Amino acid sequence: MKDWFTVENIDADTFAISEYRHWEETHAYLLIGRDRSLLIDTGLGVCDISAPVRELTKTHVTAVPTHVHWDHIGGLRYFKDFCVHRAEKEWITGSFPLPVEAVRAMLSRDCELPPGFDLNSYGIFYGRPSRLLEDGEVIDLGGRSLQVIHTPGHSPGHMCLWERERGYLFTGDLVYAGTLYADYPSTDPEAYLASVERIARLPAGRLLPGHHSLDVRAGLAGEIAAELRSLRESGKLAHGAGRFDFPGWSIAL
Ligand SMILES: [Zn+2]
Ligand SMILES: [Zn+2]
Repeated sequence: MKDWFTVENIDADTFAISEYRHWEETHAYLLIGRDRSLLIDTGLGVCDISAPVRELTKTHVTAVPTHVHWDHIGGLRYFKDFCVHRAEKEWITGSFPLPVEAVRAMLSRDCELPPGFDLNSYGIFYGRPSRLLEDGEVIDLGGRSLQVIHTPGHSPGHMCLWERERGYLFTGDLVYAGTLYADYPSTDPEAYLASVERIARLPAGRLLPGHHSLDVRAGLAGEIAAELRSLRESGKLAHGAGRFDFPGWSIAL
């Protein structure tokens, strides 16, 4: 489907590939290197994300979902070479803790699905990663490189990817301008705060989030960390505390 994906330039060899026809407004990012390219997140898997990727590069593509949630791994089936964080190996190889019916309900809510798309044939992707990633590892693309930062909290193996040279921080579901989720059983509100504090210390010039607006203020991670610290001081940084709203974002605990 031609206009399922929206492709936008971040710079001459970095692109956002977005799915604005779904309420989650997911973003995948293609980073083109000299020797190979990296696809950070792969979207919902409703349409074939390798088609716009192939239009942008002929290099080998390694796909790295920031975490193993259905809306980030949907397009992994189009890439033989993909890596996830070690802590989510079980999820990606067959034991994701959510029934497919729940995923289909989230997919079909507020979504302009392409004509002819069969919701009942939609499944959760399972496969064998080519490599498991750890905190601190460097992914070298030739002429540009990214550091893996393990940022648990939203999910146990969530990663942010840091491209120091360009000042880009790919934040996945840890930081974006929208409702953040630390309320499922597999989330950890305390770890969430520690992860946001950690990335807030990086000298990032641009945050590139997993969802919603691409225009995120660079100080958002610091603002989120400060508000989560206040919630902790009042004993509310815990599962079941509810939803809290702040300017431009909120969090479900
Ligand atoms: Zn997620
Ligand atoms: Zn997500």
